[in-house]
This record gives sequence, C-alpha cells and structure tokens, in this order.
Amino acid sequence: MRNGNVNCDELKDLLHGYVDGEIDLVRSLEIERHLEGCPGCAEALGQLKRLRQALQEPALYHRPGPGLRERIVSSLPQAQASTAPVRRHFRKAPPLAALLSTAASLAFAALAIWGIVYLRSNPGGDQTMRMVVAGHVRSLMMMPGSLVQVQSSDQHTVKPWFAKSGQLGFAPPVPNPPGYSLLGGRLEYLEDQKVAALVYKRREHIINLFIWPQSHVVEQALQKSTRQGYHLLHWSRGGFAFWAISDLNGAELQEFAELSMR
Ligand SMILES: [Zn+2]
Repeated sequence: MRNGNVNCDELKDLLHGYVDGEIDLVRSLEIERHLEGCPGCAEALGQLKRLRQALQEPALYHRPGPGLRERIVSSLPQAQASTAPVRRHFRKAPPLAALLSTAASLAFAALAIWGIVYLRSNPGGDQTMRMVVAGHVRSLMMMPGSLVQVQSSDQHTVKPWFAKSGQLGFAPPVPNPPGYSLLGGRLEYLEDQKVAALVYKRREHIINLFIWPQSHVVEQALQKSTRQGYHLLHWSRGGFAFWAISDLNGAELQEFAELSMR
C-alpha cells in the first residue's frame, strides 16, 4: 500500500533505523505520515518497540551470583579439594541440577547477546550501503552548485582533477555513458576513506557514482538493491569498487551501470 511517499515495503526496511533515530528528519516525517494511515505498519512498529523494550529488561541480563558458583562447587563430589587440578572436576559428572542451572544461565546470556547483536547489526544491514545512501542524501541537500567541486561534462577534465587535487591518492576511472550527462566530480568521505564521487544527470534525476580502490582485486558482477527509496547498484572492476545510487528508476540505473562498465 502506498501512503504518502513511503510504501509498506520501503517502510519495513526503514523501521529499525527509525526506532534507532537514525533516519533524517524529512524521511522521519514521511514515515510518521505513513504510519498514521497504515495500521499494518503501525502494528509492526509496535512489535519492534515491544521487542526492544523486552531486550532492555534488566531481568534478561542474568548475572549468576556467587551462590551459583557455590552450589556447583558444593555439588561436586570432590569440591573441597580446591587445590586439585581442575581436570578432576570434570572426570566425575556433576549432578544434573547443577548442569541445568549452568545451561540456563548460558542460554540466558546467549539470548541476550543474540538480541543485542541482532538489533545492532540489522537496522541498516550492510554498512557500506548505508554510507552510500548517506553520501547521496548529503550531496542532494547541499547548495546547488556544491554538488560538484569540478564542474565539467568532459571526462578528460574530471579525471585529471582528482589526480591533481592530491587528496585521493588515486585517479578514478570516469565513465561517459551515452544518454547520461556528466556534471562533474567531488571528494567524499565514506567507509572511513576518501572516495571519488562522480555526478551524472538523467532528466531531473541525479546519480552519484562513488568509486574507491580495493585492496583485493575482485571482479564483481552487478548487484542491485533498494534502500530508503533509492536504487543502488554495486560492481567491482579493475581494482575499483563502484556504487551508483539514484532515485532514477531501476531499469535506467541498470542501463547507466552497464554502459559505465564498458
Ligand atoms: Zn504500510
């Protein structure tokens, strides 16, 4: 169901980030507008909030007190021989109750850790993808004209600019896909490194193409994804990683990528 500028599928992807307060203001307002008119998504949000609350319950962070250790030790047949090698404790099986008690503590701990790791790692999924989206959105929020630092439709001007700026330490390939106008390039900071951003335009749609060198030379075929309403395409070639992102439709962005790979 489309309700406002966000549809239910997109909202599902955004929900974790929304609960974490990681979504920008404009997007958050769109999400809230969608939630007001969509009981299904509102319920999904409720469930997520309840899950998070449950995982924050102090009772879940079970810390076995000194009592547990004593119970286990005293239940061991030769526990009083505390100087005996640890191995001896294991040669004779401890009573079932102690084992179950330990197992329960471990299970609690595992559940709590799983919950924390899941919630930490899942809201955005792939870190790189999130940074690419952030870089794209940031660039669109800039003043018109500062989208590019070198403004030129000529790849033979743009490529040397990166080399001359001396900031990157590499000169990215500058594709010239027919039908897509090169507006220029700028420096970006993604994934803890400086990367090249090439900016293209198709009708009124801006495409950011982020490029950075890869230490391991892996050729990677086109990978498509959608995030926060943007289409993303990723590929690796000639020792560089490429990420194209735009609100352009998926078919045209794929054409852009395929032409850029030539
Ligand atoms: Zn919905």
